[in-house]
Amino acid sequence: MAALYKPRDKRRKIDIDSELKSLIISIKHSTSLPDITATLRALCEGDADALTVLIIESSNACLGYGVPFSMAFCHTKLQLKESYTFASFFVPGMSLIEKALNMTDWLPDDDLSKQSLVRLLSFLNDKGSINFIKTLHKRQDIFNNETRLCVALAEHVLTKLAPKANYILDHHYPRLKTDDECRCGCHSKIDDKYGDTSIGHYSVWHGNIDALVGGEGLEIPVLIDLTNDPDSPGGRAQAEMKHRIKNEHIEDFPIKHQMLSQAIVFSFLQKARHPDSKHFLIPCIGMSAKQMIVYLYDSKYDVLLQSRAISLTDGNEVNYTGLIVLWLVLNYQNLGSGLSEYCVKNMSKAAFLKGADSETENIYKERLPVGDVHGRSMCETLDPTSTRRVVITPPDTPKFVWPS
Ligand SMILES: [Zn+2]
Repeated sequence: MAALYKPRDKRRKIDIDSELKSLIISIKHSTSLPDITATLRALCEGDADALTVLIIESSNACLGYGVPFSMAFCHTKLQLKESYTFASFFVPGMSLIEKALNMTDWLPDDDLSKQSLVRLLSFLNDKGSINFIKTLHKRQDIFNNETRLCVALAEHVLTKLAPKANYILDHHYPRLKTDDECRCGCHSKIDDKYGDTSIGHYSVWHGNIDALVGGEGLEIPVLIDLTNDPDSPGGRAQAEMKHRIKNEHIEDFPIKHQMLSQAIVFSFLQKARHPDSKHFLIPCIGMSAKQMIVYLYDSKYDVLLQSRAISLTDGNEVNYTGLIVLWLVLNYQNLGSGLSEYCVKNMSKAAFLKGADSETENIYKERLPVGDVHGRSMCETLDPTSTRRVVITPPDTPKFVWPS
């Protein structure tokens, strides 16, 4: 039987090879090439795009009761003397694009790398996609509504750069009947995109992710930032958070605590689901209509990294840094290299599980389910049947006798 499929496979191989060859030629002749190469150079050498190590000073991740992501608290300290170039963690991805731009008639050996390059170069060559990013912040009907913004970014940016064009939106998102399609004007139907995005465990950090992009077990969490809109779920959670943490300045991106909690839980989850992965430095993306930020957590080596807030546009032009960073992190499995030996040895640890009891540690490392995770508030998650409670009657308590 296998022989029957050979001609089709061969044809597909020729198709992708010729598509990639023409995309490489086209990008090499593009007027954007100097901006793209300047971006790539900055990701390899520049300090502006570096990732900085974070140490967790205090959090509510390991208190012995459940905390939903919207109430997560994770106060961190930036290790300013420990910043690393973005390229340090994405060696295969940078090497792929370096070879494509420098060599003549070169193509990668494996299909996964070919597909990744096709997705990036198609995006960079596509005027519609570039214009979409340039004009998104002007579309008030979209950027003022968390659901619509999430759909538009997933349909027109994230899935175009991810290895698979799949995504799931949190089915709790408030939506009108007219929101069964992307509202940017493309009319793509999105009814089947809503689903259960809950992760975590009811007795530790848990909750629903705005969108899981990528598909087939290699998704990554994406959070939409709409904190300027006080009526949105994100805006409400942020208002509550600001009220609770009066003395803490929430730096860089207003959804930082939520993002950190989701990045950390997701890294533990992916390590348990894919124990044979070549690395466990798992990203989480935060996006608004104007900018993005990336957090990465390695649950094997307990290292936490933060990017700067990266603008999606640069004046009236697109900012290529945002696009290339998105491409690298969405394809982290194939394009990422994780922590090098030097990094493992020299980087400060996040100390995420500091102070956690063995039961909590075990939950994060071994027992995080995917989907159907419930428990909305701390009180609701204090489950009396939980095995975590050990009930003791002190031996000096008097015995009570009750009528039968
Ligand atoms: Zn659309």
